[in-house]
Amino acid sequence: MTGSDQHILVIGAGQAGLQAAETLRSNGFEGRISLYGDEPYAPYHRPPLSKAWLTEKIDERQLTIRDISALERKGILLRTGSVIEAIDPHARSARVSDGSLVHWSGLVLATGATPRRLPGSESSKAVHVLRSRRDATEIAERLQHCAREGRPIIIIGGGFIGLEVAASARKLGLDVTIVEAASRLLERVLSSDLSQWYADLHRSRGTKLLIGAQVSNIEPVGPDQAIVHFADGRSVQAGLVLTGIGVIPNDGLARKAGIECDNGIVVDDCCRTSVPNIVAAGDCTVRRLPDGAKIRLESVQNAVEQGRSAALALLGKEKPFTETPWFWSDQYGIKLQIAGLSHGADTWVRRGESSESGFSIFHFKQDRLIAVDSVNAVKDHMLARRVIGTSAAPTIEQVQDARFDLFTLRSKSA
Ligand SMILES: Cc1cc2nc3c(=O)[nH]c(=O)nc-3n(C[C@H](O)[C@H](O)[C@H](O)COP(=O)(O)OP(=O)(O)OC[C@H]3O[C@@H](n4cnc5c(N)ncnc54)[C@H](O)[C@@H]3O)c2cc1C
Repeated sequence: MTGSDQHILVIGAGQAGLQAAETLRSNGFEGRISLYGDEPYAPYHRPPLSKAWLTEKIDERQLTIRDISALERKGILLRTGSVIEAIDPHARSARVSDGSLVHWSGLVLATGATPRRLPGSESSKAVHVLRSRRDATEIAERLQHCAREGRPIIIIGGGFIGLEVAASARKLGLDVTIVEAASRLLERVLSSDLSQWYADLHRSRGTKLLIGAQVSNIEPVGPDQAIVHFADGRSVQAGLVLTGIGVIPNDGLARKAGIECDNGIVVDDCCRTSVPNIVAAGDCTVRRLPDGAKIRLESVQNAVEQGRSAALALLGKEKPFTETPWFWSDQYGIKLQIAGLSHGADTWVRRGESSESGFSIFHFKQDRLIAVDSVNAVKDHMLARRVIGTSAAPTIEQVQDARFDLFTLRSKSA
């Protein structure tokens, strides 16, 4: 699919959609490319929304990944504020919110994900979720308001977004409580050792943690406050309640069009869906692995790699997605970087003292290195991305041996 009479429609002007559009152009696609996004902005970076955007450390220009004129120069038509309401794979058309019909020869679904909400909290000005630039701008205003009025904030969910917002709010001097229903922070992604380290970090910076606490409901109070009620009868009032309890993939368009979905649009390792000429990328997808298991990743790297892979698949230049997954999080200026997936690990080894000056946790499954979590240890992270899944990966004994120089393995992996 490269001819100038072809039209590829990309739905979702986020990281994955942008990457797909640009990859199409840079790989010889001469036809029309349209990038439709329901938000009123050109594609922008989401990670700063829980970090520097809240503390006003970056401006709009720095948040933008690609502005409309840069896209125009590449021959990519960006349509902001345009919701695609339905797609028809047989007629190869899509219905836009302004009533128009767009015909396509190839389709990229890059619709992202929507934050989960707690029931009953939608109408309150004090209760928020964080996904979009608009959400973040409203939260930033609320934080300023709470700082002025001396009102505490409550964050429900001790995952990455909750912890990052907590760190940003503490920078602004706010009274912050994190509520986590599980027995520890970041339970699904970090070892218990590292979870504890992060709990200690947040406490040391003045954040209160309520671990193992079940929220029963949120009650709006007046125009701009809310009370969080807990299952054990306690309740806490706040000027801002942020719920950071995960996301739901936006797979509705695909599901209604008969494309296979299973908590996300099911794609193979080249981002092909169950329907020819329709590919999908980013947070809206769930990837079927060769052994039949399915995996959902939510990260910039996944959106970028899948966006690229999806575009190449439409051009008949399939490139399986094989990169080691990686992710980062910034809290109080401390950088956590994760390479690989630690799920199913049976052994972990810490390298370096657990301090802010840098250490890493190496995860092994049946003696094979599968993931490395690095705290202020960028070199460990870069090495991990290179060696995980290769014969150059260190053994448990090598990681345990403080005298063994892991970086000698770099040359083995080259
Ligand atoms: C606050 C925050 C902090 C984060 N921090 C990190 C981090 O530190 N490191 C990291 O690796 N990842 C981080 N992430 C995750 C990362 O940003 C996402 O995984 C990535 O942006 C996903 O890109 P995407 O293109 O799949 O989805 P999105 O960026 O969500 O883009 C999808 C777009 O499609 C639009 N859309 C949906 N349906 C339609 C429709 N029918 N018609 C038109 N448009 C539609 C959506 O509104 C959205 O604009 C963070 C995410 C958030 C929200």
